[in-house]
Amino acid sequence: MMLLKSLRSSGTSRSVLLLRCAGSLRNAIKFDYDLVVLGGGSGGLACAKEAVAYGARVLCLDYVKPTPAGTKWGVGGTCVNVGCIPKKLMHQASLLGEAVHEAVAYGWNVDDRDIKPDWKKLVKVVQNHIKSVNWVTRVDLRDKKVEYVNSIGSFVDPHTIQYKTKQGELKQLTAQYVVIAVGGRPRYPPIKGAFELGITSDDIFSYEKEPGRTLVVGAGYVGLECACFLKGLGYDPTVMVRSIVLRGFDRQMSEFLAAMMTERGIRFLNTTIPMGVDRTPEGKLLVQYRNTTTQTDESDVFDTVLWAIGRKGLIGDLNLGAAGVQTYNDKVIVDHTEATNVPHIFAVGDIIYGRPELTPVAILAGRLLARRLFAGSTQLMDYTDVATTVFTPLEYSCVGMSEEMAIERLGADNIEVFHGYYKPTEFFIPQKSFRHCYLKVVAELSGDQKILGLHYIGPVAGEVIQGFAAALKSGLTVKTLLNTVGIHPTTAEEFTRLSVTKRSGVDPTPASCCS
Ligand code: FAD
Ligand code: NDP
Repeated sequence: MMLLKSLRSSGTSRSVLLLRCAGSLRNAIKFDYDLVVLGGGSGGLACAKEAVAYGARVLCLDYVKPTPAGTKWGVGGTCVNVGCIPKKLMHQASLLGEAVHEAVAYGWNVDDRDIKPDWKKLVKVVQNHIKSVNWVTRVDLRDKKVEYVNSIGSFVDPHTIQYKTKQGELKQLTAQYVVIAVGGRPRYPPIKGAFELGITSDDIFSYEKEPGRTLVVGAGYVGLECACFLKGLGYDPTVMVRSIVLRGFDRQMSEFLAAMMTERGIRFLNTTIPMGVDRTPEGKLLVQYRNTTTQTDESDVFDTVLWAIGRKGLIGDLNLGAAGVQTYNDKVIVDHTEATNVPHIFAVGDIIYGRPELTPVAILAGRLLARRLFAGSTQLMDYTDVATTVFTPLEYSCVGMSEEMAIERLGADNIEVFHGYYKPTEFFIPQKSFRHCYLKVVAELSGDQKILGLHYIGPVAGEVIQGFAAALKSGLTVKTLLNTVGIHPTTAEEFTRLSVTKRSGVDPTPASCCS
């Protein structure tokens, strides 16, 4: 009945409608559920909720195994519990510390000497927010009539899923479609003391102890973001870089970001890998490491060691062999429709091999898949030109191609790179460094100069790039950008004031704010 209602309101034709209802009736007889979703994170929940809206009978299984340090959390997956949300809150907390000093410069009568955060209180308010989101998520699932079971799901055969009830009883159910949305968890290096003495991003947002002097191993998104909020909160992070910072991003922008972090007092151990961790008699952590350029071994003592060396797909518990689903490097292989090699089994989110590990990507892919399965849609997920932000104090946000990628794909002679430094108005009074406020537009050389990539380091870069991402997807050109009237005085308006190309060799430093 629900299917009928939603199909009618979506304007589906009578014959398609009847066909689908007949299909649904057959499935009602054949399968316990139209859809079983394995994993209740960003992608799984989006898919499950969208599917019920089209009348599907949906069950979602979600379970979190505790970390080696014992941290566990509720429904909602990585983003809500140990990812985007607590990270953004800690990022904000660290920016507020900086804002106190700025406030003094602007005439506020506050004493900014020796300000310190209350780590325990910060963790408590962050965790309270997460718990409220967990609660709202469960209520939403109940209201939308998604059946939710807090248990690990695994395949018995391609249409049968098994899980254990709270009472320890094994239950089996059948589904017409299965969506694998189990995400990933942080990797640990295979060295002495890694599991016993180190923590990961899964632990830091609920860590009871003050982190203190922290070694952050890894220079991807997680490593840089954690190091930055720890520094902003008054701790002393060191980042260990195996090869380069932010592999896969525009090189010039990544180096600027590292330089900005260095300027703020974050230490980098370049071309260095960890060799082992021991506990000292004083209860600190002694880390042995090797510089792979000089081939020298060194050690240092830290209060906390945080592994940020990438994530591993959670395929281990799925018994994918029983379903015959193909995998590669702990991830599931899918085609352009998110279908695995088994046609009725799909995957969305971080568990897919070779796709961006980002929440909005998981959500949109999950929604579009549900629409294709239950509402006759043919719209596919477009994984190109996905905007992203690294939440460092000056954020780095980008969409589209890096300069290197544009050169590789089009050739250096066929692209134009516009660039410029800029000075945010609000930086002048507190005399904040704008040395690394920089943006870059990578475009085709000819015609109206179609834009291939936009890159921006500066305050609230994520907010700035989001709108430009829609424009880029709609075919934005340099001509249109320069015809766009800016909003003054903002930093985003700098994109409408581009005048200096790299090819010209002209100094891209602005003379004044308003010229
Ligand atoms: P998840 O959200 O990981 O959900 C999968 C769920 O399935 C988990 O609850 C898992 O425990 C469960 N599960 C696993 N196996 C089974 C099983 N067999 N049965 C039942 N349940 C199972 N992205 C952004 O876009 N912006 C950000 O700012 C951002 N910040 C991040 C910060 C950090 C520190 C981290 C680690 C990630 C961040 N991400 C960010 C990435 C984002 O969190 C992920 O891309 C997103 O959560 C992936 O969603 P998912 O649904 O694929 O998987
Ligand atoms: P990444 O894969 O981005 O980075 C891993 C880092 O660890 C790299 O610098 C890598 O170096 C290094 N590394 C890997 N193995 C070792 C090792 N054995 N010893 C020392 N260093 C090592 O993973 P992250 O965990 O940072 O992030 C995972 C994903 O989560 C990201 O890809 C992103 O999609 C998502 N995320 C998104 C965020 C956002 O949107 N703001 C924030 C946080 C996460 P090398 O380059 O040499 O391989």
